[in-house]
Amino acid sequence: MQIKCLIIATYFLIPQLIMADQNFGIAVHGGAGVMKNLSEERRTKIEEKVNETLTKAYKILNDGGTSMDAVEFVVSEFEDSPLFNAGKGSVYNSNEVQEMDASIMNGKDRSAGAVASVRNVKNPIKLARKVSELTEHIMLVGDGAYEFAKNIGETIVDSDYFYSEKNLKRLRKAKDKLVSSNIIHDKIGTVGAVAIDKNGNIAAATSTGGMTNKMPGRVGDSPIIGSGTWAQNGVCGVSTTGHGEFFIKYQVAREVCARMEYMNKSISDSSEEILMELKDINAYGGLIAIDSEANISMPFNTHGMIRGSVSNKTNINVAIY
Ligand code: ASP
Repeated sequence: MQIKCLIIATYFLIPQLIMADQNFGIAVHGGAGVMKNLSEERRTKIEEKVNETLTKAYKILNDGGTSMDAVEFVVSEFEDSPLFNAGKGSVYNSNEVQEMDASIMNGKDRSAGAVASVRNVKNPIKLARKVSELTEHIMLVGDGAYEFAKNIGETIVDSDYFYSEKNLKRLRKAKDKLVSSNIIHDKIGTVGAVAIDKNGNIAAATSTGGMTNKMPGRVGDSPIIGSGTWAQNGVCGVSTTGHGEFFIKYQVAREVCARMEYMNKSISDSSEEILMELKDINAYGGLIAIDSEANISMPFNTHGMIRGSVSNKTNINVAIY
């Protein structure tokens, strides 16, 4: 009888003790870039939004919620805000249309979902998660993604929902200044989140409107698994922001984790080194990364990056410069 009780106690208690030791936390970004023209009022609004969203996301994790739910929550909140270049605040392509990219990855089993060049979908990140959970595919683009969104009842909005005088002015300025083949990265605000939950599961998510004056159909790094988003249990989770073409060529999100996995680098050494190497080739941007102990690194090689983090071992921290 005593042995039986001991076995039962061991069976139930040991996993709980292990779980109690698991550190958990979340980091978020709202894009990297030149932030010299940010007014005091706008800066305060952004910081408040990041703070409020992080606090709610941390509660999800603290209450035992999953890292997938926490990162999806953050990114969809930012998509609903005009302050960021994702969802509602997405920038215009050269045809004055918003085409959005998003992806999400679950480090538990490497399942992932992405959408690219989608229009009229209110929350591309929710659609990306549905691609992962409801289809046999990883990425849907354009009309196919739109049809899928309609079929599964995702919220579709009219183009007016995305209308922004500010973003239109930005596009006109870009067109006046540049030759037609150039895209510009003048609007900060791609959004992303990485998290680890109490079960040690890591997740990452990224969403963007891309770059002002991009060619119709251009897809950046944000929906590319390994470039804009990566999550791998036991190693790390990463979401990037910056000049997407470079982040694709250098597979930045996966590269951060690969250097940790194969070279035994710490999360800060790995991510800071990569950002420095990118700067050397005039590739600008930043990233957020979290490891299996909820250590967080948020380097950037630009003037600023909207960012914030909180974990069970560190207080909430929000910064831009
Ligand atoms: N990486 C995004 C893209 O190239 C833009 C950004 O992060 O600001 O589409």
